[in-house]
Amino acid sequence: MTTQIAVHGAAGRMGRSVIAVVLSDAQARLAAAIERAGHAALGSDAALLSGAPEASGVALDADVERALERCQVVIDFSGPESTRALLARCAEKRVPAVVGTTGMDAAAREAVQALARVVPVVFAANFSIGVNVLWALCERAVQLCGDDFDLEVVEMHHHHKVDAPSGTALKLTDVIARARGLEPGAAAVHGRSGLVGARRPGEIGMHALRGGDVFGDHTLVMAGPGERLELTHRAHGREIFARGAVRAAHWVVGRPVGLYDMSDVLGLKA
Ligand code: NAD
Repeated sequence: MTTQIAVHGAAGRMGRSVIAVVLSDAQARLAAAIERAGHAALGSDAALLSGAPEASGVALDADVERALERCQVVIDFSGPESTRALLARCAEKRVPAVVGTTGMDAAAREAVQALARVVPVVFAANFSIGVNVLWALCERAVQLCGDDFDLEVVEMHHHHKVDAPSGTALKLTDVIARARGLEPGAAAVHGRSGLVGARRPGEIGMHALRGGDVFGDHTLVMAGPGERLELTHRAHGREIFARGAVRAAHWVVGRPVGLYDMSDVLGLKA
């Protein structure tokens, strides 16, 4: 069965990537590509805009109503204010949504909750399939290895990144701290410098490497007596988020009403 997908924020970096993934998926059809009123790309062909060689016949359109009537699910990567407005329309039209916009304020988060009371919604701060599996594997590995394995999180990103550690590394630390019964904020030790003394039990070291054009690497080092286990995820580009979001779109159609995340989509909670 083909899933009819609308993309909201269609001219953005993520929107174009999602359009490219939808168009390359035999099980999906691009039902609509939505952009904000006044955007210079309105009227352009969605496929050509996403870098495909051939036109799709779907033009970028600012009419949300019309788009929601044509689709079974909408994928949103835009901004908090536009996400909030979109989700209110989805609630009226009973259209399920896959929401990837981050930095959501209280009103936008409430719009997600409100929509999830009437249709199924997938909301995730990171749609990468590999990163979500990494979190689940790290949680399990920490539980299995026991307390005498020291935990260190190492991440590397390109030299333009301005914040550290990455949100993904913070979430990883959160996951492994909880798996060990630790308070994440108290356990984290950021980079070590000077005469810091021997490592204390219960510390989780966090280290941010910056350089070149590395899209995003994350490693959990588990150093035990006489052995070391390392779990690493390497991201090569933003397409990983688009692939995860399209997988979520297929999954969410026909689900019971409720709020889901990628661990539900990937069956990681079982
Ligand atoms: P971007 O600025 O390139 O694209 C956003 C697009 O949304 C723009 O084209 C903009 O014109 C459009 N837009 C704004 N208002 C709109 C409206 N009212 N209707 C329709 N479209 C509208 O940003 P981006 O890099 O594509 O990221 C978008 C969001 O996705 C950000 O919040 C980013 O942090 C998030 N993101 C999430 C994940 C994840 O895995 N969850 C991954 C990457 C990015």
